[in-house]
Amino acid sequence: MERIYNFSAGPAMLPLPVLEEASKGVLEIQNSGMSILEVSHRGKHYEAIHYDTIQRVLSVLSLSPEEFDVLFLGGGASLQFAMLPMNFLRAGQTADYINTGEWAVKAISEAKRFGTVNIAGTSEDRRYSYIPTELHLSPSARYVHITTNNTIEGTEWHTLPETNGVPLVADCSSDIFALERDYSRFHLFYAGAQKNAGPAGVTLVVARKEFLQQAADDVPTILSYKTHAKANSLYNTPPVFAIYVMNLVMKWIEAQGGLKTIEAHNRQKAALIYDALDAHPDVYDPTVTQKADRSLMNVTFRLKNPEWEAAFLEGAKARKMEGLKGHRSVGGFRASIYNAFPIEGCQALADYLHAFAANPTS
Ligand code: PLP
Repeated sequence: MERIYNFSAGPAMLPLPVLEEASKGVLEIQNSGMSILEVSHRGKHYEAIHYDTIQRVLSVLSLSPEEFDVLFLGGGASLQFAMLPMNFLRAGQTADYINTGEWAVKAISEAKRFGTVNIAGTSEDRRYSYIPTELHLSPSARYVHITTNNTIEGTEWHTLPETNGVPLVADCSSDIFALERDYSRFHLFYAGAQKNAGPAGVTLVVARKEFLQQAADDVPTILSYKTHAKANSLYNTPPVFAIYVMNLVMKWIEAQGGLKTIEAHNRQKAALIYDALDAHPDVYDPTVTQKADRSLMNVTFRLKNPEWEAAFLEGAKARKMEGLKGHRSVGGFRASIYNAFPIEGCQALADYLHAFAANPTS
């Protein structure tokens, strides 16, 4: 099979060695005579994978197992939009949310069902093209919620906000494992796996043990963080295959040299594309003008003349580049270049951006 350059925003490319190993596991796992799809989640074969994945996730993120729990949940990051306030916010209480884009808006609308939401900062005034620095935090907030990488708009928090002791909580769906970050700054963070952590089907929640103990008790059992923390994410059948692939992704990250090397690589990849866009201001409009806020994962841009769009996409397809169309709400183009996306693909796009700019009307 010839792999194309898949710029999709997610599910996204996985490392080829991971896919190769996973396909072996689909046939047989650990000489068990069973496929990973067939083993019991309470049997020794899966249990070894389960606990090894928890340990590797924490180790890759440089977090201590004494301080942090790792949960494997279902429902995508979207369920976390509701589960977080369901566990931590009640009528009469306030949570601070920073509104940096469409995913933040969804998180905010769920939180409003449970308590008061204070929009402590927003970049809505300029179509979410920057990360707001002017914040109005409420001193008594239960938590402050940010979206570390805004998948649709192409911005990313490169410096975490100071929250004056209020727990910082984050949706890290589209940049978890992409860069070195002090993850111990968070009390809780979550991520759908399908960009940098594995296949769709499992959502990673990492939280301080002491924070989880403060969660409310009047929550349906399956939606309570405490349930899953107490049962080590084995309260019900976990998404076994997705966690198995996450285990392989963690080993792949370790083999690359951990997050330091991954980040350096991601910076190199993103720079190739941003530099090509910036080199032709008459042809391309990067949507995130504040360079310090540009995402390493999702490079968003428009063409100066929308009439060129069809030709641009057609030319990309001819070069085996797929998934470049921007999100339907934003338009334009988006190159999603998560961890497993190869640098050769970024170079191919950069070359194409230069070639197209030389003659956009042809
Ligand atoms: N949050 C962010 C930042 C995302 O990029 C996405 C999906 O792309 C979601 C949340 C929703 O994730 P899920 O589809 O896993 O619910």
